[in-house]
Amino acid sequence: MHHFHYIQNRLHCEAVPVADIALDVGTPLYLYSHATLERHFKAFQNAFAAVKPLVCYSAKANSSQAILTLFRQWGGGLDIVSGGELFRGLKAGFISQKVVYSGVGKRADEIDAAISHGILAFNIESMEELNLINARAGELKRRARAAIRVNPDVDPKTHPYISTGLKKTKFGIDIATAVEGYRAAQQMANIEIVGVDCHLGSQITTLEPFEQALAGLKQLVTELRHIGISLQHLDVGGGLGITYKDETPPGIEAYARAVTKVVQETGLQLILEPGRAIVGNAAILVTKVLYRKQTGEKQFVIVDAGMNDLMRPALYKAYHAIEPVEKQSRATIVADVVGPICESSDFLAQDRSMVDVLPGELLAVMGAGAYGFVMSSNYCSRIRAAEVLVKEDRFDLIRQRENLEDLVRGELVPAWVLKAANHMGRQ
Ligand SMILES: *Cc1c(COP(=O)(O)O)cnc(C)c1O
Repeated sequence: MHHFHYIQNRLHCEAVPVADIALDVGTPLYLYSHATLERHFKAFQNAFAAVKPLVCYSAKANSSQAILTLFRQWGGGLDIVSGGELFRGLKAGFISQKVVYSGVGKRADEIDAAISHGILAFNIESMEELNLINARAGELKRRARAAIRVNPDVDPKTHPYISTGLKKTKFGIDIATAVEGYRAAQQMANIEIVGVDCHLGSQITTLEPFEQALAGLKQLVTELRHIGISLQHLDVGGGLGITYKDETPPGIEAYARAVTKVVQETGLQLILEPGRAIVGNAAILVTKVLYRKQTGEKQFVIVDAGMNDLMRPALYKAYHAIEPVEKQSRATIVADVVGPICESSDFLAQDRSMVDVLPGELLAVMGAGAYGFVMSSNYCSRIRAAEVLVKEDRFDLIRQRENLEDLVRGELVPAWVLKAANHMGRQ
């Protein structure tokens, strides 16, 4: 359920015509619906209300300052995967006691920052990392709170690039050896063991992987209790899928029932790390048709958004629905919707049956809120898109479109290079 809908054949975000915003701000443009963000965020809080969860929104899905600030306002915590995300989270006003930190490659400086701020928990991905955190905490004269991220060896049946809970991936500590990890952690002077964590992957569309993992977690919690290690929280990660095309992910209530049951059996505090399920359907990418091109083989709709703006199709062959911003009665075509970038992976859709469009018309790439803007880049020296937040009948810029100077910010040309080049230039 989202708040992008047609009123008299014009696509609206809440009460605002999308075309009006595009006219004002230009394209390409990420457009977010406040009502959708609120609805999805609060759906997590409500579905799990019986166990009073801490919803640590996964910042990497979309780390916009405005959006993070909304989640903070609604009582959320934050799941981060880098020192940069810690910075963003604190800047958006999150208290560090609501921040959990995941990721296999935490650097010492990032660890130091998180220890100094006293985050709720490090999600430990290896014993090597735990040793380093223990050492850094000693150095800083602090105790670091930690949960072990266990790898339950469950197949989440999603795209291999976003599967993280299988033994063969780089994530977490094998659940079979986790007890040893906890024993070792308990001996460490500067580590306080507070929980257990698990994240299976992303865009998971059935309950079974979650149920399998939860069963493993419950058994682990019981085993730990038997050897005198008691935990405070159970962090079940994120990963709940959304509908891009014809997927039928479990509803949040069904997901919540499965999780809540296990949480109640263990008596632990629940932490959730949803990302995509909250922000995925809360945004569209608005792009303008530049050209229509027909080769012997194919029809192309060439638009002004490329793989640098939305990488998911290029990266995972992900499907995004593409809708006209102004509905016209036209013939249906089968076309590739492609961007201006010099790569054949630069497509937003392939062999897509769609209504014919003319240059100058606007298209909406649906479901672009998660892993959309955050993965965008300046490849081909393209400036990154603007972002706009709509609430009812108002809209506000939440990120300015980059300008050409942004492209070279931070670049340095050594004086000797400049001198030599200028010298050559005079010849
Ligand atoms: C990416 C990630 C999430 C969020 O996953 P979604 O599929 O967006 O819900 C949660 N936890 C960890 C550790 C992650 O890496």
